[in-house]
Amino acid sequence: MKKIAVLTSGGDAPGMNAAVRAVVRKAIFEGIEVAGIYNGYQGLIDGKIELLQLGSVGDIIQRGGTMLRSARSVDFRTPEGRDKAVEQLKAHGIEAIVVIGGDGSFQGAFELTKLGIPCVGVPATIDNDIKGTDFTIGFDTALNTVIDAIDKIRDTASSHERTFIVEVMGRDAGDLALWAGLAGGAETILIPEEKYDVPAIIERLKSGSGRGKKHSIIIVAEGVMPAVELADLLKREADIDTRISVLGHIQRGGSPSARDRVIASQFGARAVEVLKEGRGGVAVGLRNNGIVEYELKDVVEDKNEWKSEMYKLSIELSI
Ligand code: ATP
Repeated sequence: MKKIAVLTSGGDAPGMNAAVRAVVRKAIFEGIEVAGIYNGYQGLIDGKIELLQLGSVGDIIQRGGTMLRSARSVDFRTPEGRDKAVEQLKAHGIEAIVVIGGDGSFQGAFELTKLGIPCVGVPATIDNDIKGTDFTIGFDTALNTVIDAIDKIRDTASSHERTFIVEVMGRDAGDLALWAGLAGGAETILIPEEKYDVPAIIERLKSGSGRGKKHSIIIVAEGVMPAVELADLLKREADIDTRISVLGHIQRGGSPSARDRVIASQFGARAVEVLKEGRGGVAVGLRNNGIVEYELKDVVEDKNEWKSEMYKLSIELSI
Protein backbone atom coordinates (compact mmCIF):
# COMPACT_ATOMS: atom_id res chain seq x y z
CA MET A 1 0.00 0.00 0.00
CA LYS A 2 1.69 3.19 -1.21
CA LYS A 3 -1.09 5.74 -1.30
CA ILE A 4 -4.46 5.96 0.41
CA ALA A 5 -7.11 8.67 0.76
CA VAL A 6 -9.49 9.86 3.44
CA LEU A 7 -12.92 11.50 3.13
CA THR A 8 -15.73 12.62 5.43
CA SER A 9 -19.32 12.04 4.33
CA GLY A 10 -22.95 12.49 5.45
CA GLY A 11 -23.87 14.65 8.43
CA ASP A 12 -20.82 16.19 10.09
CA ALA A 13 -19.99 15.14 13.64
CA PRO A 14 -17.62 16.63 16.22
CA GLY A 15 -14.45 14.56 16.23
CA MET A 16 -14.31 13.98 12.47
CA ASN A 17 -11.26 16.25 12.36
CA ALA A 18 -9.51 14.23 15.03
CA ALA A 19 -10.15 11.11 12.93
CA VAL A 20 -8.78 12.76 9.77
CA ARG A 21 -5.70 13.81 11.72
CA ALA A 22 -5.17 10.29 13.01
CA VAL A 23 -5.51 8.76 9.54
CA VAL A 24 -3.05 11.23 8.03
CA ARG A 25 -0.46 11.00 10.80
CA LYS A 26 -0.65 7.22 11.14
CA ALA A 27 -0.35 6.76 7.37
CA ILE A 28 2.69 9.01 7.19
CA PHE A 29 4.17 7.23 10.22
CA GLU A 30 3.77 3.96 8.29
CA GLY A 31 5.39 5.44 5.17
CA ILE A 32 2.13 5.62 3.21
CA GLU A 33 1.14 8.72 1.24
CA VAL A 34 -2.28 10.07 2.09
CA ALA A 35 -4.60 12.30 0.08
CA GLY A 36 -7.60 14.25 1.34
CA ILE A 37 -10.81 14.08 -0.69
CA TYR A 38 -12.90 17.22 -0.18
CA ASN A 39 -16.73 17.24 -0.06
CA GLY A 40 -17.25 13.51 0.43
CA TYR A 41 -18.15 11.20 -2.43
CA GLN A 42 -19.17 14.14 -4.63
CA GLY A 43 -15.68 15.59 -4.32
CA LEU A 44 -14.26 12.20 -5.22
CA ILE A 45 -16.29 12.14 -8.45
CA ASP A 46 -15.28 15.75 -9.18
CA GLY A 47 -11.59 15.12 -8.44
CA LYS A 48 -11.30 17.45 -5.43
CA ILE A 49 -8.27 15.55 -4.18
CA GLU A 50 -5.09 16.91 -2.57
CA LEU A 51 -2.05 15.31 -1.01
CA LEU A 52 -1.92 15.92 2.75
CA GLN A 53 1.17 16.40 4.92
CA LEU A 54 1.74 16.25 8.67
CA GLY A 55 1.14 20.01 8.88
CA SER A 56 -2.11 19.81 6.88
CA VAL A 57 -3.84 18.38 9.93
CA GLY A 58 -2.17 20.58 12.54
CA ASP A 59 -4.40 22.52 14.96
CA ILE A 60 -7.61 20.67 14.03
CA ILE A 61 -7.94 18.06 16.81
CA GLN A 62 -10.00 20.49 18.91
CA ARG A 63 -12.21 21.78 16.10
CA GLY A 64 -15.78 20.70 15.36
CA GLY A 65 -16.98 20.09 11.79
CA THR A 66 -14.59 18.64 9.24
CA MET A 67 -11.69 20.31 7.43
CA LEU A 68 -12.40 18.01 4.47
CA ARG A 69 -15.99 19.27 4.42
CA SER A 70 -18.86 16.87 3.98
CA ALA A 71 -21.60 16.40 1.40
CA ARG A 72 -24.44 14.14 0.43
CA SER A 73 -23.88 12.95 -3.14
CA VAL A 74 -26.75 11.82 -5.34
CA ASP A 75 -24.33 10.99 -8.21
CA PHE A 76 -22.45 8.48 -6.08
CA ARG A 77 -25.65 6.47 -5.60
CA THR A 78 -25.57 5.65 -9.34
CA PRO A 79 -23.27 3.05 -10.98
CA GLU A 80 -22.05 5.75 -13.44
CA GLY A 81 -21.11 8.04 -10.57
CA ARG A 82 -19.21 5.28 -8.81
CA ASP A 83 -17.37 4.40 -12.05
CA LYS A 84 -16.23 8.03 -12.29
CA ALA A 85 -15.07 7.83 -8.68
CA VAL A 86 -12.97 4.75 -9.46
CA GLU A 87 -11.46 6.50 -12.50
CA GLN A 88 -10.46 9.46 -10.32
CA LEU A 89 -8.84 7.15 -7.78
CA LYS A 90 -6.86 5.38 -10.50
CA ALA A 91 -5.80 8.72 -12.03
CA HIS A 92 -4.49 9.85 -8.63
CA GLY A 93 -2.78 6.53 -7.87
CA ILE A 94 -4.96 5.98 -4.78
CA GLU A 95 -5.29 2.34 -3.81
CA ALA A 96 -7.66 2.47 -0.84
CA ILE A 97 -9.89 4.83 1.16
CA VAL A 98 -10.82 5.56 4.77
CA VAL A 99 -14.46 6.70 4.84
CA ILE A 100 -15.47 8.66 7.93
CA GLY A 101 -19.26 8.94 8.26
CA GLY A 102 -22.56 7.29 9.12
CA ASP A 103 -24.37 4.23 7.83
CA GLY A 104 -25.18 5.80 4.43
CA SER A 105 -21.50 6.58 3.95
CA PHE A 106 -20.72 2.97 4.89
CA GLN A 107 -23.08 1.77 2.14
CA GLY A 108 -21.08 3.88 -0.29
CA ALA A 109 -17.84 2.38 1.06
CA PHE A 110 -19.28 -1.10 0.64
CA GLU A 111 -20.16 -0.38 -3.00
CA LEU A 112 -16.68 0.99 -3.66
CA THR A 113 -15.07 -2.06 -2.09
CA LYS A 114 -17.10 -4.23 -4.47
CA LEU A 115 -15.51 -2.29 -7.34
CA GLY A 116 -12.05 -3.32 -6.15
CA ILE A 117 -11.12 -0.33 -3.98
CA PRO A 118 -10.54 -1.51 -0.40
CA CYS A 119 -12.42 0.80 1.99
CA VAL A 120 -12.46 1.01 5.77
CA GLY A 121 -15.33 2.73 7.57
CA VAL A 122 -14.79 4.96 10.59
CA PRO A 123 -18.15 5.51 12.34
CA ALA A 124 -18.87 9.19 12.90
CA THR A 125 -22.43 10.38 13.48
CA ILE A 126 -24.15 12.02 16.42
CA ASP A 127 -26.94 9.43 16.02
CA ASN A 128 -24.86 6.55 17.44
CA ASP A 129 -26.79 4.19 15.18
CA ILE A 130 -24.16 1.96 13.62
CA LYS A 131 -24.40 -1.72 14.24
CA GLY A 132 -21.05 -3.14 15.24
CA THR A 133 -19.84 -0.33 17.49
CA ASP A 134 -21.03 0.74 20.93
CA PHE A 135 -20.16 4.36 20.18
CA THR A 136 -19.75 6.56 17.12
CA ILE A 137 -17.54 9.64 16.94
CA GLY A 138 -19.58 12.76 17.78
CA PHE A 139 -22.21 11.13 19.97
CA ASP A 140 -20.53 12.00 23.25
CA THR A 141 -20.06 15.66 22.30
CA ALA A 142 -23.64 16.01 21.04
CA LEU A 143 -24.92 14.32 24.18
CA ASN A 144 -23.05 16.78 26.38
CA THR A 145 -24.40 19.69 24.31
CA VAL A 146 -27.95 18.44 24.85
CA ILE A 147 -27.40 17.90 28.57
CA ASP A 148 -25.98 21.39 28.93
CA ALA A 149 -29.15 22.73 27.28
CA ILE A 150 -31.44 20.58 29.46
CA ASP A 151 -29.71 21.77 32.63
CA LYS A 152 -30.26 25.38 31.60
CA ILE A 153 -33.87 24.75 30.64
CA ARG A 154 -34.39 23.01 33.97
CA ASP A 155 -33.33 26.20 35.81
CA THR A 156 -35.97 28.28 34.11
CA ALA A 157 -38.54 25.45 34.16
CA SER A 158 -38.33 25.19 37.95
CA SER A 159 -38.31 28.96 38.50
CA HIS A 160 -41.57 29.28 36.58
CA GLU A 161 -43.00 25.87 37.44
CA ARG A 162 -43.29 24.88 33.81
CA THR A 163 -43.31 21.82 31.62
CA PHE A 164 -40.75 21.98 28.83
CA ILE A 165 -40.59 19.90 25.69
CA VAL A 166 -37.07 19.64 24.28
CA GLU A 167 -36.75 18.38 20.70
CA VAL A 168 -33.45 16.71 19.88
CA MET A 169 -32.02 15.27 16.66
CA GLY A 170 -32.72 11.67 15.67
CA ARG A 171 -34.96 10.88 12.70
CA ASP A 172 -34.73 7.10 13.06
CA ALA A 173 -32.43 6.73 16.04
CA GLY A 174 -33.31 7.45 19.65
CA ASP A 175 -29.92 7.11 21.35
CA LEU A 176 -29.29 10.83 21.67
CA ALA A 177 -32.75 11.50 23.14
CA LEU A 178 -32.58 8.48 25.42
CA TRP A 179 -29.10 9.09 26.82
CA ALA A 180 -29.78 12.82 27.19
CA GLY A 181 -33.10 12.10 28.88
CA LEU A 182 -31.49 9.68 31.29
CA ALA A 183 -28.53 11.93 32.07
CA GLY A 184 -30.72 15.03 32.23
CA GLY A 185 -33.35 13.49 34.48
CA ALA A 186 -36.22 13.93 32.02
CA GLU A 187 -39.66 12.76 33.12
CA THR A 188 -40.66 11.48 29.69
CA ILE A 189 -38.58 10.42 26.69
CA LEU A 190 -40.10 9.82 23.26
CA ILE A 191 -37.96 7.93 20.77
CA PRO A 192 -38.64 6.30 17.39
CA GLU A 193 -37.84 2.80 18.65
CA GLU A 194 -40.52 2.75 21.36
CA LYS A 195 -44.26 3.31 21.08
CA TYR A 196 -45.61 6.26 23.01
CA ASP A 197 -48.92 6.56 24.76
CA VAL A 198 -50.41 10.06 25.12
CA PRO A 199 -52.74 9.24 28.07
CA ALA A 200 -49.72 7.78 29.92
CA ILE A 201 -47.68 10.94 29.30
CA ILE A 202 -50.55 13.07 30.61
CA GLU A 203 -51.00 10.82 33.63
CA ARG A 204 -47.30 11.06 34.43
CA LEU A 205 -47.33 14.86 34.18
CA LYS A 206 -50.41 15.11 36.38
CA SER A 207 -49.15 12.72 39.03
CA GLY A 208 -45.84 14.63 39.10
CA SER A 209 -47.53 17.96 39.70
CA GLY A 210 -49.88 16.23 42.17
CA ARG A 211 -46.93 15.29 44.35
CA GLY A 212 -45.56 18.83 44.22
CA LYS A 213 -43.11 18.67 41.32
CA LYS A 214 -42.23 22.16 40.21
CA HIS A 215 -41.32 21.33 36.65
CA SER A 216 -41.21 18.60 34.06
CA ILE A 217 -38.95 17.95 31.11
CA ILE A 218 -40.06 15.92 28.11
CA ILE A 219 -37.45 14.93 25.52
CA VAL A 220 -38.72 14.11 22.06
CA ALA A 221 -36.59 12.82 19.20
CA GLU A 222 -37.41 14.69 15.98
CA GLY A 223 -38.37 11.44 14.26
CA VAL A 224 -41.29 10.88 16.65
CA MET A 225 -42.97 14.25 16.07
CA PRO A 226 -42.03 17.93 16.20
CA ALA A 227 -42.09 19.43 19.72
CA VAL A 228 -44.74 21.91 18.63
CA GLU A 229 -47.05 19.05 17.64
CA LEU A 230 -46.64 17.40 21.02
CA ALA A 231 -47.31 20.72 22.74
CA ASP A 232 -50.57 21.09 20.75
CA LEU A 233 -51.53 17.52 21.63
CA LEU A 234 -51.05 18.05 25.36
CA LYS A 235 -52.97 21.32 25.26
CA ARG A 236 -55.82 19.80 23.28
CA GLU A 237 -56.11 16.54 25.23
CA ALA A 238 -55.48 17.74 28.78
CA ASP A 239 -55.19 21.53 28.77
CA ILE A 240 -51.53 21.25 29.76
CA ASP A 241 -49.44 24.32 28.93
CA THR A 242 -45.88 23.70 27.84
CA ARG A 243 -42.90 25.60 26.49
CA ILE A 244 -40.83 24.16 23.69
CA SER A 245 -37.17 24.28 22.82
CA VAL A 246 -35.85 22.89 19.53
CA LEU A 247 -32.10 22.42 19.84
CA GLY A 248 -31.44 21.98 16.11
CA HIS A 249 -27.99 22.19 14.61
CA ILE A 250 -26.17 23.33 17.74
CA GLN A 251 -26.15 19.59 18.50
CA ARG A 252 -23.83 18.94 15.58
CA GLY A 253 -21.29 21.67 16.29
CA GLY A 254 -18.75 22.52 18.92
CA SER A 255 -15.37 21.36 20.05
CA PRO A 256 -15.26 17.55 20.38
CA SER A 257 -15.21 16.08 23.88
CA ALA A 258 -12.06 14.34 25.13
CA ARG A 259 -13.77 10.99 24.64
CA ASP A 260 -14.66 11.72 21.02
CA ARG A 261 -11.11 12.88 20.30
CA VAL A 262 -9.67 9.72 21.83
CA ILE A 263 -11.91 7.25 20.00
CA ALA A 264 -11.46 9.21 16.76
CA SER A 265 -7.70 8.87 17.14
CA GLN A 266 -7.97 5.15 17.89
CA PHE A 267 -10.40 4.47 15.05
CA GLY A 268 -8.39 6.47 12.51
CA ALA A 269 -5.14 4.72 13.37
CA ARG A 270 -6.73 1.25 13.28
CA ALA A 271 -8.30 2.01 9.89
CA VAL A 272 -4.84 2.68 8.46
CA GLU A 273 -3.49 -0.55 9.96
CA VAL A 274 -6.28 -2.49 8.25
CA LEU A 275 -5.50 -0.92 4.86
CA LYS A 276 -1.79 -1.43 5.36
CA GLU A 277 -2.52 -5.15 5.58
CA GLY A 278 -4.30 -4.86 2.23
CA ARG A 279 -7.73 -5.52 3.70
CA GLY A 280 -10.96 -3.62 3.05
CA GLY A 281 -14.71 -3.98 3.35
CA VAL A 282 -14.58 -3.56 7.12
CA ALA A 283 -15.33 -0.84 9.64
CA VAL A 284 -13.69 -0.11 12.97
CA GLY A 285 -15.41 0.61 16.26
CA LEU A 286 -15.52 0.20 20.00
CA ARG A 287 -17.04 -2.75 21.80
CA ASN A 288 -16.69 -3.47 25.50
CA ASN A 289 -13.96 -0.81 25.66
CA GLY A 290 -11.83 -2.49 23.00
CA ILE A 291 -11.20 -1.43 19.41
CA VAL A 292 -12.86 -3.91 17.06
CA GLU A 293 -13.44 -4.54 13.37
CA TYR A 294 -16.68 -5.67 11.75
CA GLU A 295 -17.87 -6.25 8.19
CA LEU A 296 -19.33 -3.32 6.22
CA LYS A 297 -21.67 -5.89 4.68
CA ASP A 298 -23.28 -6.54 8.07
CA VAL A 299 -23.83 -2.83 8.74
CA VAL A 300 -25.41 -2.35 5.34
CA GLU A 301 -27.70 -5.35 5.61
CA ASP A 302 -28.92 -4.93 9.20
CA LYS A 303 -30.20 -2.04 11.23
CA ASN A 304 -28.61 -1.38 14.58
CA GLU A 305 -30.16 -3.70 17.13
CA TRP A 306 -32.15 -1.74 19.65
CA LYS A 307 -31.26 -2.27 23.30
CA SER A 308 -34.34 -1.55 25.35
CA GLU A 309 -32.81 -1.95 28.85
CA MET A 310 -31.84 1.68 29.04
CA TYR A 311 -35.31 2.78 28.03
CA LYS A 312 -36.78 0.63 30.79
CA LEU A 313 -34.33 2.17 33.26
CA SER A 314 -35.30 5.69 32.20
CA ILE A 315 -38.93 4.86 32.99
CA GLU A 316 -38.08 3.30 36.35
CA LEU A 317 -36.04 6.33 37.41
CA SER A 318 -38.64 8.91 36.42
CA ILE A 319 -41.64 7.62 38.36
P1 ATP B 1 -25.71 10.56 8.98
O1 ATP B 1 -25.91 9.33 9.81
O2 ATP B 1 -25.10 11.67 9.73
O3 ATP B 1 -26.91 10.95 8.17
P2 ATP B 1 -24.71 9.14 6.71
O4 ATP B 1 -23.36 8.71 6.32
O5 ATP B 1 -25.69 8.05 7.04
O6 ATP B 1 -24.58 10.16 7.89
P3 ATP B 1 -26.10 9.68 4.22
O7 ATP B 1 -26.56 10.95 3.61
O8 ATP B 1 -27.09 8.59 4.43
O9 ATP B 1 -25.32 10.07 5.55
O10 ATP B 1 -24.95 9.07 3.28
C1 ATP B 1 -23.84 9.85 2.87
C2 ATP B 1 -23.55 9.62 1.41
O11 ATP B 1 -23.17 8.25 1.21
C3 ATP B 1 -24.70 9.85 0.45
O12 ATP B 1 -24.87 11.19 0.10
C4 ATP B 1 -24.27 9.02 -0.74
O13 ATP B 1 -23.36 9.74 -1.56
C5 ATP B 1 -23.54 7.84 -0.11
N1 ATP B 1 -24.45 6.69 -0.07
C6 ATP B 1 -25.47 6.46 0.80
N2 ATP B 1 -26.12 5.32 0.52
C7 ATP B 1 -25.53 4.81 -0.59
C8 ATP B 1 -25.73 3.65 -1.40
N3 ATP B 1 -26.70 2.77 -1.13
N4 ATP B 1 -24.91 3.46 -2.44
C9 ATP B 1 -23.92 4.32 -2.73
N5 ATP B 1 -23.68 5.44 -2.01
C10 ATP B 1 -24.45 5.69 -0.96
